[in-house]
Amino acid sequence: MAGLREFADRLWRGEIDTVIDAHPVTVPWNDRQAEEIADGVLYYKGLAAATTIDAGGALVMLDTGAQNDAERLHAAVRAWRPAPRLAAAVFSHHHVDHVFGVGPFERESEDRHSTRPLVYGHERIPEHFRRYQRTRGWNGAINRRQFARPGLPLSPRFEWPSDYRFPDVTYRDRLRVRVGDLTLELHHARGETEDATWTWVPERRLLAAGDLFIWATPNAGNPQKAQRWVGEWAAALRQMSALGAELLVPGHGLPIFGAERIRQALDDTAGLLESIEGQVLALMNAGASLDRVLHEVEIPAAALAKPYLRPVYDHPQFLVRNVWRYYGGWWDGEPDRLLPAPRDDEAREWVALAGGLAAVLARAKALRDEGDLRLASHLVEVAVRAEPSSREAHDLRAEVYETRATLEPSSMARGIFQYAAASSREGKRDGFDPN
Ligand SMILES: [Zn+2]
Repeated sequence: MAGLREFADRLWRGEIDTVIDAHPVTVPWNDRQAEEIADGVLYYKGLAAATTIDAGGALVMLDTGAQNDAERLHAAVRAWRPAPRLAAAVFSHHHVDHVFGVGPFERESEDRHSTRPLVYGHERIPEHFRRYQRTRGWNGAINRRQFARPGLPLSPRFEWPSDYRFPDVTYRDRLRVRVGDLTLELHHARGETEDATWTWVPERRLLAAGDLFIWATPNAGNPQKAQRWVGEWAAALRQMSALGAELLVPGHGLPIFGAERIRQALDDTAGLLESIEGQVLALMNAGASLDRVLHEVEIPAAALAKPYLRPVYDHPQFLVRNVWRYYGGWWDGEPDRLLPAPRDDEAREWVALAGGLAAVLARAKALRDEGDLRLASHLVEVAVRAEPSSREAHDLRAEVYETRATLEPSSMARGIFQYAAASSREGKRDGFDPN
C-alpha cells in the first residue's frame, strides 16, 4: 500500500512534476495501475481514475475508465476480489475516459448467471451520448489536436466511439443508493459538464469528485468543447469541502489522504474559480469587450503555484473565455468580426499593404527573435493564408509554434500549437483538412 500513498504524498508536497511525471491524463506511479488505498477500496488509474469499493458481498465502482482500460481494470478488480459481483457503477459524467469499464463485468454476470450491474448517472448523460454519436468526426478532429505530440504522425487512426453503455438509473438533483453495507450519495453539479455527479460514501468518509478535481487548473475552459460552468463548479467544491472527507478520489491524478489536505485542495480550487468568474463578470458589467477581459483579468499566481492547481492541462485564460461565453454569447464585441469577410481575403489585404510576403515574414522573424511569440503567431497566420503554397511561410509558422509549444505549460494549448506546427511541416495549415 505504501507505493501509491508515498507517491501521492510527494505529489502533494510538490516534489513530482505534474507537467510530465504526473500529468492528470497520464498513468503515474507504477505499471500495475491499481492499488488498495484503504480497507476495501481499490484505486485504478488509467487515463482517468476508477475506484472500486467492497460493499460487503458486492462491489461498487465510482467511474469505470476508458475503452482501453476495460480489460485491465476488470483484471485488476478480479485479482483483488475474485468473487463478489459488481452490483453498481456510477458514471461521474459522460466523457469517454469514464464510461467504458462495465462491459467485462456484464459479460461475466451472464457467464455466472448473476444479476447484471446497474449503472447510475445524471439524467442528462443520455443526451450527451447521443450528441457524441452525432459529432464523431468533430470529436475525432478536436481530440487529435488536443492530444497532439511532437513526432506523432499527423493521421493517427483515432476513432471516436459510437456505442455507449447508457445508465439504467438516472436522477436530477440527488440520489441515495444502498449497496451492501454502503450508502452512495450522488449529487449533481454543473462543472466540466452539465451532467456531473460527485459521490459521497459516508461510511468510509470517501468522496469521489469525478473531474471536478483533477490535480490541475480545472478543465473549465477547454477551447474545443461544449459549455462548462465555472461558478457552479466552485459552489460544488465548497459543498464537498464541508463534508469532512478523509479520502478524496479525483477524476484524474492521485487520491488525497486526510481531511485537512482535502479541504485545502477543494477550497483553493473553488477560490481560483471564484476569482476568475468574479473578475470576468465585473468587467462585463462595466461593458468591457472580450479583448479587454482577456488581458485585464488577473489570474491569482499563488493559486496556480499549488501542486494541485498548476495549469498543466487547461489554460486559465480559456476559463475566462468560457465565463464570457456562458454569460455573454459568442460575439467578442469587435464590430468587424460580427459579419466578417473570409479570413484568407483579409490576410491578402494585409500582406499586400505590408508590401508583400517577404516583409511580413521578416517582421514575424524579428518578433519571434524578440520573444513576442503571440504577435509573431498573428503574422505567420496572415502569411500562410495569403500565400498558402509558400514553403518559407510554412517553415516559419512551424518554428513559431514549435517554440510556443516548448514554453507552454498547458498541454491543451501545447497540443494545438504542436498540431499547427506539424501541419505546416507538411505544407498545410490544417493537417487533417482533406482539401
Ligand atoms: Zn476525465
